[in-house]
Amino acid sequence: MKNKWKLVLALTLFACAIGIGVYAYKDGGESAPDDASLAVPWYCHRCNKGYMLTPAQYEPTIGKGVHPANEGDSGDMTAMVMIVECPVCKGAAVAARRCEVHGEIYDPRDADPARRQCSQCAAKQGATKQ
Ligand SMILES: [Zn+2]
Ligand SMILES: [Zn+2]
Repeated sequence: MKNKWKLVLALTLFACAIGIGVYAYKDGGESAPDDASLAVPWYCHRCNKGYMLTPAQYEPTIGKGVHPANEGDSGDMTAMVMIVECPVCKGAAVAARRCEVHGEIYDPRDADPARRQCSQCAAKQGATKQ
């Protein structure tokens, strides 16, 4: 009989642990999935480089801020973007896009219009125009 109660107690504790785990995840805790298939592109203007980060990598630092290209234009809400900490320089990396053809990560809100698309696609378009 004693063993049965131990089992009930163990199951109760286990259920509590799952409950806490789910709660922590919903609360934006550390247990976000570290799954490469869920990775999304971010672009760091300090590194001039894009990075694919999994939810586990970006969730602890995610926030909203003014796009680096629009700093100084205070009050412009359209300049607000999702920002995470750059994994390399710890600066601000902004939500970016990834070219499905070339896999290049670019920032569609870049201050320079020429850089608002994949450089390889841009080069291709330039070549066909001539
Ligand atoms: Zn960086
Ligand atoms: Zn491309």
